[in-house]
Amino acid sequence: MPHVITQSCCSDGSCVYACPVNCIHPTPDEPGFATAEMLYIDPVACVDCGACVSACPVGAISHDSKLTPEQLPFVELNAAFYPEPDGNLPPTSKLAPVIEAPVVYPRAGGPLTVAIVGSGPAAMYAADELLTQKDVRVNVFERLPTPYGLVRAGVAPDHQSTKRVTKLFDRIAAQPGFTFYLNVDVGSDVTHDELLEHHHAVLYAVGAPNDRRLDIAGMGLPGTGTATEFVAWYNAHPDGHPDFDSLAINLGHERVVIVGNGNVALDVARILTTPPDVLARTDISDHALAVLRESKVIEVVIAARRGPKDSAFTLPELIGLTSTCEVVLSPADHELVALDLEAAEDPLTRNKLEVLSKLGDTSTPPTRPRIRLAYRLTPKRVVGDARTEAIECTVTDTDEVHRLDAGLVLTSIGYRGKPIRGLPFDGSKAVVPNDGGRVVDPRSAEPVPGSYVAGWIKRGPTGFIGTNKSCAAQTVHNLVADYNDGRLRDPRYKPGALDRLVRSRRPDMVDSAGWKAIDAAEVARGGDDRPRVKFTAVADMLTAAADGGPPRFGRRLLAGLRR
Ligand code: NAP
Repeated sequence: MPHVITQSCCSDGSCVYACPVNCIHPTPDEPGFATAEMLYIDPVACVDCGACVSACPVGAISHDSKLTPEQLPFVELNAAFYPEPDGNLPPTSKLAPVIEAPVVYPRAGGPLTVAIVGSGPAAMYAADELLTQKDVRVNVFERLPTPYGLVRAGVAPDHQSTKRVTKLFDRIAAQPGFTFYLNVDVGSDVTHDELLEHHHAVLYAVGAPNDRRLDIAGMGLPGTGTATEFVAWYNAHPDGHPDFDSLAINLGHERVVIVGNGNVALDVARILTTPPDVLARTDISDHALAVLRESKVIEVVIAARRGPKDSAFTLPELIGLTSTCEVVLSPADHELVALDLEAAEDPLTRNKLEVLSKLGDTSTPPTRPRIRLAYRLTPKRVVGDARTEAIECTVTDTDEVHRLDAGLVLTSIGYRGKPIRGLPFDGSKAVVPNDGGRVVDPRSAEPVPGSYVAGWIKRGPTGFIGTNKSCAAQTVHNLVADYNDGRLRDPRYKPGALDRLVRSRRPDMVDSAGWKAIDAAEVARGGDDRPRVKFTAVADMLTAAADGGPPRFGRRLLAGLRR
């Protein structure tokens, strides 16, 4: 078998379009794509050309002779997706799928001009899709001085290969027609209506920044927190609460409990159990590293309210976790796995349960900090006077109370979008109501003129980095169709007016040159051993942006020349 897709698959489908023999599935237009945990190479059809290797933005594809021992399970996982020769699904054919470009019909009065709010994967894929066409301008607005959203601030520091997708985003940002307006808060610095006066359309790709909250007694005690707070803390996000570590993080206790068992819970558990010397070679924040070096934690329990077959984490992430960390189950949970395995029909669930069934159990004393996957525990209350001492759960669907002593309880139960000023909001789903990315007013069921969404604020917090590529493409195709049909009003002002407006409101706005200066300064701070050391304070980012770029006057002149 020549090439193999591994755990860091981002599912953006670039490999699918690069493959000359269409041997990578599911393709974005196949039914299984939306729910696929990764993409898979058909070992029989692969012609070993390596086109997919160069197309993959996160370095997830290797030749089978170059796999690391941890990656070997992916040989079988790729092959298992394809049935024996007589099987029916999925089809492989020699015809590679072709991406349909969103053709823009040029019209008098200037290029199609789109404001994109947010700069994470959905925003960058939307910009890329728009810029496949000549004569399109895209202005990307971001609240922070640094772009790329959750790739910078969410992806765990020990998953550096996943962060390689930023190289693709850098290339998108360098295309003619692309402009960054960083450190600009849409909603307060400039309003939605003002953006519409300067663009044909505004596309929001602002993600789902809030946590789902667990409403039980004791949450809020020192020693409780959410995964979002914890991830912001170790990823050096400037929104991280400055006192979060002293208030909440207690690693002087032997156990941490994480409520919820999605991929975010796995990330957090890995960071808590990986040797600090390994993390020291990543871009983890210095403050987190210092606390982790003093950690007394020997067990991280990931507590799920349902059983093993309903585990929210994905199989590739589970394989990745078990290859680098010690992961165990209690004997009772092993019995649950065995029961689920007996009943499981769906091959993906069976594969997941088989990996779980091979894990060690809690009867062996830990030799290093380990992770325990625990099942059927419904959280009831956090116990403690001045600080967290334990969490009490009931065994799901029973009255039996199960107490887990812990100095730190983190909830990792998903995210929620938050309302955008000037647009409708569906509070129950925590998304902006939309039809294929066109924002829809639920009262009239009519599209809201010039307003679009992509990514988590459009479809909710699901999927991987690359899932946003097809999601953004759908929105952009609808936006371009509306433009071609004359449903988008021409901007009221000439392009240069936007720059003046934004700079008058935010004199410390950061442009592409400023971001490059911050990036270079962070990489330099990392020295020879680390990919970068991030700035945690916005003020330091702004200083680096101002120090590194050409003088402001020069930058303005360059910006003027680009228009
Ligand atoms: P998630 O996958 O939706 O998992 C949420 C977990 O919280 C589930 O176990 C859920 O249990 C549990 N939960 C929800 N409400 C609860 C409650 N009231 N009490 C107890 N448990 C509760 O969310 P996530 O981990 O935040 O991930 C978000 C998305 O990002 C996912 O699509 C994920 O795959 C993706 N992601 C991917 C990666 C990666 O590829 N490496 C890394 C991070 C995140 P139930 O199932 O019982 O509701």
